[in-house]
Amino acid sequence: MREQQNVSGLLCTGCGVCAGLCPERAITIVANPQGRFMAHVNADRCRRCAQCLHVCSGYQGDWDRLNLALFGKIPEDQYLGHYRGCYKGYALDPQLRFQASSGGAVTALAGGLLESGYIQGALVTRVTPGGTNLVESILAESVQEIQQAKTSKYQMAPMDSVLRRLRTFPGRVAVVGLPCQITALRKATMIDGFYEEKIAVLFSLFCGRCPNRLASGYFFKEAHINMARLASFTYRGEGWPGKTIASTIDGETRSFPHLQTWENIFGLDLFTPPACLCCFEFSGEFSDISFGSDWLSNPEPGQQGKSLLLTRSERGADILRHAVSARWLVVEKISADQLKDKYMATLIQHKHHFYLYCRWLAKCPPNGRSQGSPRLSPWDYLVGAGRLVIVQLGKIGLTRAISLAIHSSWIGRIIRKVKRFLVGAMVRWVKRH
Ligand SMILES: Cc1cc2nc3c(=O)[nH]c(=O)nc-3n(C[C@H](O)[C@H](O)[C@H](O)COP(=O)(O)OP(=O)(O)OC[C@H]3O[C@@H](n4cnc5c(N)ncnc54)[C@H](O)[C@@H]3O)c2cc1C
Ligand code: SF4
Ligand code: SF4
Ligand code: SF4
Repeated sequence: MREQQNVSGLLCTGCGVCAGLCPERAITIVANPQGRFMAHVNADRCRRCAQCLHVCSGYQGDWDRLNLALFGKIPEDQYLGHYRGCYKGYALDPQLRFQASSGGAVTALAGGLLESGYIQGALVTRVTPGGTNLVESILAESVQEIQQAKTSKYQMAPMDSVLRRLRTFPGRVAVVGLPCQITALRKATMIDGFYEEKIAVLFSLFCGRCPNRLASGYFFKEAHINMARLASFTYRGEGWPGKTIASTIDGETRSFPHLQTWENIFGLDLFTPPACLCCFEFSGEFSDISFGSDWLSNPEPGQQGKSLLLTRSERGADILRHAVSARWLVVEKISADQLKDKYMATLIQHKHHFYLYCRWLAKCPPNGRSQGSPRLSPWDYLVGAGRLVIVQLGKIGLTRAISLAIHSSWIGRIIRKVKRFLVGAMVRWVKRH
């Protein structure tokens, strides 16, 4: 049985939702040597209720059914899913806007909802230098805690322990998560009335990919920073498009442009878990509101950024209306086509995977859009795959590619196995002679 091993197997993102919900506490999230978090089921405790399978976003997702149950229809837009309105906006608190990922909209909304009493807590993700994992999911109970957790963390933060805490938490909460986490929680609210009652609103981030833990390790290695001496760390923030900043307890601070660290480390396929490479989600289709970065306006570096917002449910639309009238943030309406134009490559990659991604790479100009019917010849596949390799190599250079390959999950594993085999063979040979 699947639930006796690791629920969705290779497609497990380590989001932690199944582990947080399992009535027998039979699931633990473990970090494997390849840097991935994975669900592991203790077969002795499992009573085979299959709840973990039903909530998991990586396991037999019937999205039409979910859309019908949630929004009453199959979405007309196959790329963005169901939405009511499309906006860009930013927090009116200039300091928050400056320090957040994009426009600080997520933090402004979650903080405003807490202050107004609509929620009593928010599940957010913060950096914890010196913790077992560099990032962790927490249940913030004050605006200050929500603000401390602003900006994107390019590592999965399993939600299992905070979800377990919800059982005894007296109030209602907002959850901020990646699309796979939000889909799993949306399914949970439909299965279990307790979560429907407890979770007041689901906010999803857009998510192109979430690098495994080795990416952060590699960042610190490249930056010559000893992780054990880390005092503070931010993956992104400080203006648009932001910086990755690490400070040590010895008083040293190093800062790198966000685009540099994303393109050279966090955004590389080598550090991307298989689940992300096969993920159908990008824009958090089952959230109440989803949030992305406004790469449409793309202001000059150092200027202030903006967030993109898609309201999906009636609840999400009401919350945004209230937030604007309460002046937590300002928004302006934009057309969804503008957003899709900018994100077409990512959307194609997510919705059609390798097939159309190759087509896009093979047939379109580098920054162009895919057009027409998706017919691909074997030659297109080859050209597409070749361009993918060249684009990746061009970004990182051959020597770094080799060094990264050694660090990355599966290639590193093969190299380590071959090395172990050769060393073993040599030892045996020496002993024999
Ligand atoms: C792994 C990852 C990939 C992303 N990919 C894209 C992309 O391809 N395109 C795009 O437009 N936007 C992407 N985003 C979203 C983008 O970076 C911003 O989070 C979004 O624009 C909201 O900005 P903001 O200023 O409104 O958020 P902020 O006000 O800065 O708040 C961000 C919120 O997200 C929470 N959070 C941060 N990291 C995580 C995490 N790992 N797991 C769960 N919650 C988290 C924080 O706790 C905080 O509450 C990604 C984010 C992440 C974490
Ligand atoms: S719910 Fe999350 S942690 Fe559990 S198996 Fe699915 S992806 Fe993995
Ligand atoms: S089948 Fe039920 S008891 Fe077993 S691990 Fe999954 S949720 Fe837990
Ligand atoms: S790309 Fe998909 S599977 Fe990967 S973290 Fe984002 S939402 Fe989850």
